[in-house]
Amino acid sequence: MRQSIVEKIEEFGFKHGSGESWVACPECDVRSPRPLRRANDVLKCEKCGCSASVREWLMHGIETERQGKADEVPADTKITKAGDGLGGAVWKIPAAGKFDFFLLFGTAWLGITAVVSFAILAESFKNRLSEGDMPFLIIVPFLGVFWAIGLGVFFAGLKGMFQKVEISVSGGEFTLKKELFGRVNEQRCALESIKSVSQVVFYSKNKRPVYGIQVKADKKFKFGSALRDDEKAWLTADLEEATTANRKRVVGSYEPEERGRKDYFSVVIPDSIKARALGALIIFAVSILFLVLGLFVMDTGFPSTVPTAWDAEELINFLKDLFSSTFRTLWLCFSTLIACVAVYLFFKALGERGQEKRIEGNEAEVSLRTYKRGLVLKDRSFPRSRVTDIRATNSGSQNGRPMKRVDLIVTLEAIKIAGWMDGDEADALVAEVREALGVK
Ligand SMILES: [Zn+2]
Repeated sequence: MRQSIVEKIEEFGFKHGSGESWVACPECDVRSPRPLRRANDVLKCEKCGCSASVREWLMHGIETERQGKADEVPADTKITKAGDGLGGAVWKIPAAGKFDFFLLFGTAWLGITAVVSFAILAESFKNRLSEGDMPFLIIVPFLGVFWAIGLGVFFAGLKGMFQKVEISVSGGEFTLKKELFGRVNEQRCALESIKSVSQVVFYSKNKRPVYGIQVKADKKFKFGSALRDDEKAWLTADLEEATTANRKRVVGSYEPEERGRKDYFSVVIPDSIKARALGALIIFAVSILFLVLGLFVMDTGFPSTVPTAWDAEELINFLKDLFSSTFRTLWLCFSTLIACVAVYLFFKALGERGQEKRIEGNEAEVSLRTYKRGLVLKDRSFPRSRVTDIRATNSGSQNGRPMKRVDLIVTLEAIKIAGWMDGDEADALVAEVREALGVK
């Protein structure tokens, strides 16, 4: 029952979280329209025969949409690439020169803020002269926030329009140089320290994500959000290729002793109960801290008086009180909810102490079993002929390490084995079980 609620929430997120209209085969990249199926349904590729969950097809579709090839330079791009004479290369991205959304928004925001500031300051100046009080201490920082937002957005717009970017991979170093109005900002790192080159979401515009390029080393280098999609795709692939030779590759730790299909096998599914319990405790501590903040530090702020007339000060106070009381209530509800979830996860992890999950096979069946002191607590078995594959897909990252979800592919359905497993462990598990199943 619990499991099914979790699955239902996941399914809801899957249905409503992604508007993609097509999917791609995880093995051969062939595209097809998105089927009206559930996330755990299995889709078989007509071209290469690969069977994988609809979730994996969809995720791969999103990945490939943004994938380019290093040697496919987009037509009429303004980005130039030149050799440095020593086997390295320099890419130059000229200023976009387009009047963009940020500049427009920033200008409008600053204009409105200027008018409002003038009106408020003039009013309070007049009051000060007549009544002698000093509301400046409150008004100035209040207006300052609006000015800061406006200037920030305006500056981002200026950067998008006038900033020149130069990237170089040369002499064992990666360098990112940004120039705006003659001011140069330069960052560099050793090529060996680069962990990944990828497109990540920088911000959203009209509810659509806007991607930029991120080179991740000990720090993150970000650029290129104003480029066209095909330029981002090519540049990411090209930089990936230029930097990849110097990187250390992480290889799965699994070394098969004997190759090929096995009639009988029993493989432990890694599960770190200690890490889960500790994670739950940390979440609990943070949520308690949030609760304490909400209960004792935040202003209770229930509206004291309802405004009777269009008195600006009274109205502003009323709105401020209404806002802060609503905010505090939501804050307290949310903190309590998180604390409850943390307690549930903690006791769930404790309850699973001493348990071991295994995937086992004989000639007739493949089983997912949970053991405790040699006894089988749970058993879910499938006819071996129906189990066609086991697959790992990215589900996020923790402490900078990729985490994966592992599914067993049983004819028409993907059965979740683990949702949040260390990426290398997941790959090793998949390699070992695949081999035992005799799957290529
Ligand atoms: Zn395929």
